[in-house]
Amino acid sequence: MSEAIVAVEGLSKRYGSVRAVDDVSFAIAPGQTVGVVGESGCGKSTTARLIMGLERPSGGTLRFRGEPYGSSARALRPVRRAIGMIFQDPYESLDPRFSVRELIAEPLRAHGRWRDGGETRVGELLEAVGLGSVSLRAAPTEFSGGQRQRLGIARALALDPAVVIADEPTSALDVSVQAQILNLLLELQRERGIGLLMISHDLHVVRRMSDTIVVMYAGAVMEQGPASEITARPRHPYTRALLDAIPGTSPSARRLVGRPRTASGIASAASTGCPFATRCPRVDDRCRSERPPLTGVPHAVACHYPESA
Ligand code: ADP
Ligand code: MG
Repeated sequence: MSEAIVAVEGLSKRYGSVRAVDDVSFAIAPGQTVGVVGESGCGKSTTARLIMGLERPSGGTLRFRGEPYGSSARALRPVRRAIGMIFQDPYESLDPRFSVRELIAEPLRAHGRWRDGGETRVGELLEAVGLGSVSLRAAPTEFSGGQRQRLGIARALALDPAVVIADEPTSALDVSVQAQILNLLLELQRERGIGLLMISHDLHVVRRMSDTIVVMYAGAVMEQGPASEITARPRHPYTRALLDAIPGTSPSARRLVGRPRTASGIASAASTGCPFATRCPRVDDRCRSERPPLTGVPHAVACHYPESA
């Protein structure tokens, strides 16, 4: 396996008593996709912000090309430049006062890459995301959701990132355009050898794209490993429930994962024992009192009673 661009080692983040991210480890390699899944409030976006260097971890280590992240804004600058971010909601993440040209020029200017061919670069980026024919003077408000997310992708690619983090990039879009955006991301990733961190609450979105999958619940990793293993032979009851959560599938699966969970509901998940114990169909006393460690290579699971491999 090629060397990791970003390595996440035992990463943790607390907000007061909330363990937003709790001992998470994975690596992002060139041309590979890591999928991070779990319901709202499980710590996906916090993980993304930590990797972007926008917040400081409470514990663990982040490495960029083998070197631990520096702590000053100056030391983090090369890391931020090397990581492109695609946000959840293209309606909110693009400033409506900016023209198409300005939206894409902005990251180039901010990193001193405008004078040297910036104008040409804007054209190339728009072309790459399938917006080659739009007016540079248009405002993003004139665009459809799918077009706006294409703009978001162009912005994320502006500085030739080694890694792209896509945080729920299609969850604000119509179902009909979701696949187009995911395919575009995959295509660009392959062309450019980008390491992709694909974040979604929907395991079905992530499974198609990922080489490795990390399943999170209440900040912690429940199951992790090769995508084909995780989806063909899930071992954690939570992963099983996420996989079963297709509209029209078993009511028990929908009961388990279908209800929107408040962040505080997840945050107050058992602090001793398994975080998933309060919702697990297979829970017993041991699960309530003793936290299962994450074990197994390369397919790891944190469960006292995993489904057999
Ligand atoms: P996800 O992206 O999976 O929905 P988040 O990473 O946004 O989850 O949040 C994980 C947990 O951390 C939640 O309980 C959330 O309320 C909490 N949290 C996130 N950001 C902050 C913050 N800035 N201050 C306090 N709590 C936060
Ligand atoms: Mg989020």
